[in-house]
Amino acid sequence: MTVKTALIIGGGIAGPVAACALQKAGVEARVFEAYAGPAFNIGSTLGFAPNGLAALDVIGAGDAVRAIALPMTHTVMNLGRKSVPLPALKDVEPLQVVDRSDLQSVLHDHAVKAGIEFEYNKRLVNAEENPDGVVAHFADGTSATADILIGADGIKSLVRTLIDPNAPDAEYTGVLGFGAYARIDRTLPEETMTFSYGKNAYYIYWTQPDGRVGWGANLPHRYLTSTQAREISAVDWLRILEATYGGDNPAGELIAGTDPADLVAIGGNHIMPPVPHWHSQRMVLVGDSVHAPSNSTGQGASLAIESAIQLARCLRDIDDPTTAFDTYERIRRPRVEGIAKRGKRINQTKTMGPIMRRTLPVLMPLATKMMKLNEVMSREQRYVIDWDSRVDEQAELAWV
Ligand SMILES: Cc1cc2nc3c(=O)[nH]c(=O)nc-3n(C[C@H](O)[C@H](O)[C@H](O)COP(=O)(O)OP(=O)(O)OC[C@H]3O[C@@H](n4cnc5c(N)ncnc54)[C@H](O)[C@@H]3O)c2cc1C
Repeated sequence: MTVKTALIIGGGIAGPVAACALQKAGVEARVFEAYAGPAFNIGSTLGFAPNGLAALDVIGAGDAVRAIALPMTHTVMNLGRKSVPLPALKDVEPLQVVDRSDLQSVLHDHAVKAGIEFEYNKRLVNAEENPDGVVAHFADGTSATADILIGADGIKSLVRTLIDPNAPDAEYTGVLGFGAYARIDRTLPEETMTFSYGKNAYYIYWTQPDGRVGWGANLPHRYLTSTQAREISAVDWLRILEATYGGDNPAGELIAGTDPADLVAIGGNHIMPPVPHWHSQRMVLVGDSVHAPSNSTGQGASLAIESAIQLARCLRDIDDPTTAFDTYERIRRPRVEGIAKRGKRINQTKTMGPIMRRTLPVLMPLATKMMKLNEVMSREQRYVIDWDSRVDEQAELAWV
């Protein structure tokens, strides 16, 4: 049975991309979003990888994202007082910094222009499969039917538990996320993203074209949801961040130079453990719902986009939906789980105790490790989807 129609649950990053890719594959898709409109997520910045941009080129949205993104042509790792410049990767675009809400808006607008229908205030509450298709039920009492349903409903996915009531939940990585902009009295290198292990915790920073410095912190802390984190005032958070990072250079200046209005508390950072069942007969997962690799990898949005496109490609080439879902899972699982493993290792370094952290700069052969890490990242970032060719499992797995 060829799939002709799809319901996509979630209008974040993976949802609009999946809809555009499915349209290209000849499947009519509608997107259902719980929020009242697009780009309702908390505005924080994310690093966008070259493989994500390459994947967006498949649906013709790459240039629209390049236009709103800030390229980081240099990356540096700071370990205490030591700085290790990471070699630039040849033949791939630089890492980009993009505001997450802007990214979501651009993808939404691209999909709307392509004629994709979005329905808002549609919170999925249940779904049933039958031999002919799937029925989705929404909180407002309405329902919708199609041949298949795609769960692009993020890290707390309901579709994941509809597919498997015993599916694992996302795990807390042990750190809270913060995003901010600061004005400081000195000039930092342009187009440079610095990953920095301070005395007590990890943070990143980069310069903006308007002279401000963008920065983000991963603060070891007990778990807080984003709502709980935002209940604490930005002034209080800046005080807490100062206590942790104040002795680090330039973190102390960044905190002092941040207007509380420019600080966003994101809440606990998550990682998705391996999900045993990616799909049922007519429902399938894409993006953070099935493979959130943790923010440490800088790959969450890019992997979500890749998976959305590969899923559409499998549905284009394989008539039976369950077989298409199986193939999709087989070509994606090794890549996304490999990247998540790397994220998990980085997360462990972010929550190290102070003694271990003090010895970190002494472990400078770590610089060699950084080079190795760079090689791994180079492999991750060179991934390209050959949309025009038929899905070939062997060829896909050669990328892993
Ligand atoms: C602090 C932080 C930093 C990050 N940094 C990076 C980074 O540097 N680089 C990177 O690539 N990624 C990063 N990410 C990850 C990235 O944001 C996600 O990987 C990406 O947003 C996943 O897209 P998605 O579409 O799968 O999920 P989301 O973007 O979460 O979208 C899910 C959508 O589904 C909707 N939804 C949920 N439940 C329902 C329901 N029942 N019914 C209808 N709609 C529903 C939600 O409202 C939402 O709009 C970061 C994430 C965080 C939290």
